[in-house]
Amino acid sequence: MRVLVTGGAGFLGSHLCERLLNEGNEVLCVDNFYTGRKSNVLHLLDNPEFELIRHDVTLPLMVEVDQIYNLACPASPVHYQHDPIHTMKTSVLGAMNMLDLAKRLGATVFQASTSEVYGDPEVHPQPESYWGLVNPIGIRSCYDEGKRCAETLFFDHQRQFELSIKVARIFNTYGPRMNPDDGRVVSNFIVQALRGEDITVYGEGNQTRSFCYVDDLIEGFVRLMNSDSSVTGPINLGNPGEFTVRELAEHVIDLTGSSSKLVFEPLPQDDPRQRRPDITKAESQLGWQPGINLDEGLKKTITYFENLLSAG
Ligand code: NAD
Ligand code: UDP
Repeated sequence: MRVLVTGGAGFLGSHLCERLLNEGNEVLCVDNFYTGRKSNVLHLLDNPEFELIRHDVTLPLMVEVDQIYNLACPASPVHYQHDPIHTMKTSVLGAMNMLDLAKRLGATVFQASTSEVYGDPEVHPQPESYWGLVNPIGIRSCYDEGKRCAETLFFDHQRQFELSIKVARIFNTYGPRMNPDDGRVVSNFIVQALRGEDITVYGEGNQTRSFCYVDDLIEGFVRLMNSDSSVTGPINLGNPGEFTVRELAEHVIDLTGSSSKLVFEPLPQDDPRQRRPDITKAESQLGWQPGINLDEGLKKTITYFENLLSAG
């Protein structure tokens, strides 16, 4: 199959491109390199089945493919808040352009949605049936509301045009190829620990997140994309193991053997207090559950960052 991956030079996208190529597909990787890097896909450039195009998904795209994975969007709060209007445009116009393309081609289209659609949740853990608690005018809204609007567009296209859609709600995922300047908690803590710098815990560190290792997540993507046509999602993909941010910092310090100390900085506005996926639906509809626990995944990620930092 010929498969389009938008945001393919990013953290998740590069792993997905690699997986799809390994399975014998042709892959068209589209990216504007806002947070993605050519180095993430450098090892794929020699593969004749791989093509890389610089393109912004806010503009229409004319290509011929059988499947579309729409991952293009900055995912770290630091980056999506840098140009919030472009973030919103990327989610909404990007979704519109990929849906138009899928409609023209009769292709199945996958949307990388997010646990952020649940906002600061009052229901815990979060099932797909929960509608969320999202501030529409805060500093995270460009991302949260952009992704919510994209979901609406996906389901309206399915109802109006019987388009084949697959919507995944992704919970915090980490692993090799995260950008050291990404700003997300796992990469920040590992890089700080390896450099012997202070570990920046926001607030008191009592907020919780559930961390999924990238390989587990990509397996869920591929299963969802190739699932029965009755399976549209939204479907939660994440690891139900729940940790406070302070616990995460302690795991990173233990595993790196670092002498770094925790420092406490102000909690950003609207930072969700708790987050854990209910993955019952993924288990029953996709036969999927994550297999890599936090310490195993952190060890692999630490090795990646050790190599990256020692290479300068
Ligand atoms: P990332 O920032 O590493 O990757 C995003 C990629 O999209 C980058 O390569 C970036 O250059 C590209 N991009 C951004 N705007 C674009 C545009 N307008 N046109 C073309 N390309 C554009 O982030 P990631 O963690 O790999 O996330 C990938 C997708 O998964 C995103 O849609 C994100 O919202 C979603 N997601 C990720 C997580 C996670 O924990 N990693 C959680 C929930 C949702
Ligand atoms: N966080 C932190 N220190 C950091 C980066 C993030 O304490 O250096 C916290 C952040 O406030 C949030 C959690 O870690 O509560 C996860 O943040 P991240 O940006 O990784 O993802 P998101 O908030 O989108 O879940």
